[in-house]
Amino acid sequence: MDKQSSGANSNETAPSSAAGPSKDSALEIKKKRKESKNCGLKKCFSALVDRKQVNLELEVARLMLRKELNIDLTTLPSELGESMPYMLVHHIRSWPGWLQSYKYYSGEIQFKNWYEQFETFIMNKLDEDINTTYPAVRKEIEEEEVVEKSLKTDQGTQTEVLAPKDFAPFSLQVTGKASMLNTLVFTDSGEGDVIMKQHKPLYWTKSQISNITAEQLLTWPHIGMHFVCPVLEFSRHNKHEYNRYVSIVSSSLPVLNIDRIQQMKILDKNKERFVLSLDHLTEMLSELLKAIKIVYPDLKDWTPFLAGINEFLKDVKEMDVIRRVRGKRQPTFALNTCALFNIGNGQYFRNKKLSKGQPTRYDIGYTEIIIPKIELNFISMDYENIKKYIESLKNFKSGTNLNPGTFSLPLITYSCNYCKNDFQNIDQVVKHLVDEHYMDQDVLCMKCKKSFKIFELTKTRWTHNCPKTANPK
Ligand SMILES: [Zn+2]
Ligand SMILES: [Zn+2]
Repeated sequence: MDKQSSGANSNETAPSSAAGPSKDSALEIKKKRKESKNCGLKKCFSALVDRKQVNLELEVARLMLRKELNIDLTTLPSELGESMPYMLVHHIRSWPGWLQSYKYYSGEIQFKNWYEQFETFIMNKLDEDINTTYPAVRKEIEEEEVVEKSLKTDQGTQTEVLAPKDFAPFSLQVTGKASMLNTLVFTDSGEGDVIMKQHKPLYWTKSQISNITAEQLLTWPHIGMHFVCPVLEFSRHNKHEYNRYVSIVSSSLPVLNIDRIQQMKILDKNKERFVLSLDHLTEMLSELLKAIKIVYPDLKDWTPFLAGINEFLKDVKEMDVIRRVRGKRQPTFALNTCALFNIGNGQYFRNKKLSKGQPTRYDIGYTEIIIPKIELNFISMDYENIKKYIESLKNFKSGTNLNPGTFSLPLITYSCNYCKNDFQNIDQVVKHLVDEHYMDQDVLCMKCKKSFKIFELTKTRWTHNCPKTANPK
């Protein structure tokens, strides 16, 4: 989590001392900095306030750091020391107070106070770079060198696509308990600081808990399923992309141009791969489903298979990879393939802010841009033996002693990609979401700006009748 804490007026939260052998207390260092005779930082600040262009030479920035901010670059690790002048420039530019210039121009705030807020921010950010950010990054790099990349989980979601500068000066990486994701909010302290808070969670209603269907869970954020039987294996995971930004409430949202199919790759290069048409898949899987119904006559047991196979077929249809099969052009999907696609062909967002007095267009907001995505893995299919297997299912009598290794029943299991949990049935998935994730907040369509409940969008595979879309799905 990118911390944004710089108590502008909080004298009690003195910054920790800069690196180096100095035993001075943090407060003394602060005092020393203020007594410094050089005032390049102030000059730089007032030039920026007057909207003049400032060219800061590297040497001058180093001097500022040493003389005014009391940071002895020679005592720092060389890579950190070298980057400090750039960090200084970055912090000068990213001071949230610039967004409140109107207060200074309108006389609401005095130059002296305003500069003090600025200076405190710069000092705290530099201290944070030295004492927190740098050691953390160093540690991360060292760990990464040891840990194989393949072991990396997708816990936490990060901003890969940087938003335009005027939209979001900060992009965030959020890692933590699932419940936190749905309750996070950012606000402006009113003193140039951004504060992170948790608001009250949204709970599942009794009716939602008892009415949620297997289909809905199969498009629920972070949920995955795995189907396996001796002749067929596939898995599907909800890998919705979350881009999180702290920004100014009035700034406009960037609509990202994305392809329907984001990624397509071969699962196992040593295994065979062939293309199956949607018609053919539908025919085979319907036969399989009928046979599964004989094994699991209870609707509660059979429905998950129905839902899993139906969603799989709908994925193939939606991806719309058209190929000519047996003289007919139709949607297809290849065995031994992993595809990642934008389900519902849309993008959604959430804007959150805590209201503090009269809203202004400079209020700080927390924005999430959500791109619903499904990852489909068509792992294996024993084309030769599928008919034989279906026959044996039809002849299956419950209570028959199964001979492991020769015959096994179809099995469907679930997982939460975010928490890395596995579940045996739908009830366990629902319980996990209710207890650990809480209810997802509503989202707005990026195009028509209408608001939707996740509970509704998951019923329609993340589509709605969008008036702004040329050909609504
Ligand atoms: Zn979870
Ligand atoms: Zn819409």
